[in-house]
Amino acid sequence: MNSYENYFKHEPDHNGNFGPYGGSYVSPELNKIMEEIRDAYETISKSQKFVSELRAIRKHFQGRPTPVYHAQRLSERLGNCQIYLKREDLNHTGAHKLNHCMGEALLAKYMGKKKIIAETGAGQHGVALATAAAYFNLECDIYMGEVDIEKQAPNVSRMKLLGARVVPVSAGLKTLKEAVDACFAAYLEDPVNQIYCIGSVVGPHPFPQMVRDFQHVIGVEAREQFFEMVGEDPDVVTACVGGGSNAIGIFSGFLDSCSELHGVEPLGRGEQIGDNAASLTYGSEGIMHGFNSIMLKDKDGGPAPVYSVASGLDYPSTGPEHAFLRDTGRAKYFTIDDEHALEAFYVLSRLEGIIPALESSHAVAHAMRLARENTGKRPLSILVNLSGRGDKDMDYIISHFGFGEKYLEKFNSLG
Ligand SMILES: *Cc1c(COP(=O)(O)O)cnc(C)c1O
Repeated sequence: MNSYENYFKHEPDHNGNFGPYGGSYVSPELNKIMEEIRDAYETISKSQKFVSELRAIRKHFQGRPTPVYHAQRLSERLGNCQIYLKREDLNHTGAHKLNHCMGEALLAKYMGKKKIIAETGAGQHGVALATAAAYFNLECDIYMGEVDIEKQAPNVSRMKLLGARVVPVSAGLKTLKEAVDACFAAYLEDPVNQIYCIGSVVGPHPFPQMVRDFQHVIGVEAREQFFEMVGEDPDVVTACVGGGSNAIGIFSGFLDSCSELHGVEPLGRGEQIGDNAASLTYGSEGIMHGFNSIMLKDKDGGPAPVYSVASGLDYPSTGPEHAFLRDTGRAKYFTIDDEHALEAFYVLSRLEGIIPALESSHAVAHAMRLARENTGKRPLSILVNLSGRGDKDMDYIISHFGFGEKYLEKFNSLG
């Protein structure tokens, strides 16, 4: 355990490597721009002024600390467990993403940038970044595939209300990948006035480190809150893993504890390539979007098509630090399919009065499975990072799966 004392000093190293993973694999042109961000991050973000300004924003604008909640009814119904939820769904805008967007935008402000830009798929990152831009009075361009613009109309409206410009991308399949390409291209055109704000612990150095550091607040709060409530650390800390930012946020507060750390990847419809987005479970080492990690590949070695009912989780790779924590054995990774995520969605809504995001439902479902499988004498204590609220998913879920009677009946029959 003591080996984790200096963890944050050494991981990543100064080139952004977590063991063999991470780094920066970009063109010399882009690397020069990354250099600027690295330098700014190293100096500015460590200054007392930056730290206290971000702390005040977290408290007065975001509504932090978010509570830890004991899900007593759910725990009783499952038996032999005590489940707790870190309520990131109560963070302003309804998810953990604002934690790093406010940090990135504050850095942009200190660096004298006029505009923050990003891509978005389902629109969650776009909304969080547009919120940060409004707060700091920065311009904001969000690149989005035309197909996604059509599918995610409410989030497009939110971004526009917040003052962001939504830039339609019409190349290729007109979804996330093309939006990433368009955003990088726009960034290269004007790196002086703009800055790219990545949406998870992915991309070239320093983004995986920077986004982790901005999400670390989840783990720090949760460790203290849980200890205050229970008098010890949880047996298991669990979170869903798309790019991996909410998971690394909570894990990073417990690295030097005895708690097991469980990341949960989406199994979607099954194990076949194209039916899931469980990159750490089925992927192999490779470079994508400027960093080295474990990724799902198609037969030509490029990023594979991915699927999950939770669009925030369908990314064909995972942050390099997760690949590293998996190899070292400090964290373990599991999968949950669509059906079990949906069961958790309906059960948590009904039993606890909390409608979770479909992404977060994967972590809840894993906790439910651990509870059902716990044959030990002692109830298992599980802390779930509830990364976001489910309002965004309601229309889709109700039109496809109704009000969940099938899932609730199954849950009731299992006791
Ligand atoms: C975007 C999103 C995720 C996935 O992103 P990570 O970087 O893996 O945390 C998870 N939950 C919610 C609610 C999201 O919006």
